[in-house]
Amino acid sequence: MRRMLEVSVRGRTIASVRLSGAKLRSRIAPSLPSRLRRRRVTGVRRHGKYLLIDLDEDLTLLSHLGMSGRWLFSTDGRPAPLPHVHVRLAFADGSSLRFQDPRRFGMLRLVRRDRLWRDPSLAVLGPDPFASPPAGEWLHRLARGARVSVKNFLLDQRRLAGIGNIYASEILHRGRVDPRRRAGALGREEWNAVAAEIPRVLGEAIERMGTTFRSYRTLWNEPGGYGEKLLVYDRAGEPCRRCGTPIKRIVQGQRSTYFCPRCQGRKASRAPARS
Ligand SMILES: [Zn+2]
Repeated sequence: MRRMLEVSVRGRTIASVRLSGAKLRSRIAPSLPSRLRRRRVTGVRRHGKYLLIDLDEDLTLLSHLGMSGRWLFSTDGRPAPLPHVHVRLAFADGSSLRFQDPRRFGMLRLVRRDRLWRDPSLAVLGPDPFASPPAGEWLHRLARGARVSVKNFLLDQRRLAGIGNIYASEILHRGRVDPRRRAGALGREEWNAVAAEIPRVLGEAIERMGTTFRSYRTLWNEPGGYGEKLLVYDRAGEPCRRCGTPIKRIVQGQRSTYFCPRCQGRKASRAPARS
């Protein structure tokens, strides 16, 4: 989404902003339209799951898609109306950017850039594992004493910011680690295997513009292309692509986890990771 926004909206100047008035995860400030008017987009950054749309005058529009949020871009001056659009930015050249969010867990907040990293949403986040991939040794130390499962450890945005539910299952499968194991019980070699897979899985998914199950769409309202590459996620009962054992689904922290009981069993061999 960051890459798509960067190529589509960078350099454009906001002419007007319309709000639905509905409350998202938190209330959108009613002053947002007047503060955004005439601002120009200078770049788009990301940390974890947060998008940072930089504007001139040292402002940054901070946003999170939540459960079902989408940024949708259109060059058409009068795009087809859509339900659940809570923010519409109209650019001076006639193009527009809309934030659509049926379940309303998303967030949008305009922040002064010098206060950005003190914003309560960003201040609590761990490092971004795609921008700066962690070493196995670092993860091993971070997990020391952690009693939480390794699956939920990877999802904890305060430790690492950016791994979501789909990719946590994929990373652990490719690293051949049982998702039910306590994070603090994994050895250095196991963390090395997990560390190697984190940037690979995230990188491949980003290249294919993400994974669509229900709500996620690209900036052009199309599904992402990574779904067909998934090895375990949403494949319960189907044969493991590596060993043929049926993939198992369990629930951890109210979220589905998928894994191969054979490849990711305690006695699974630690063969070198496939390239
Ligand atoms: Zn298997």
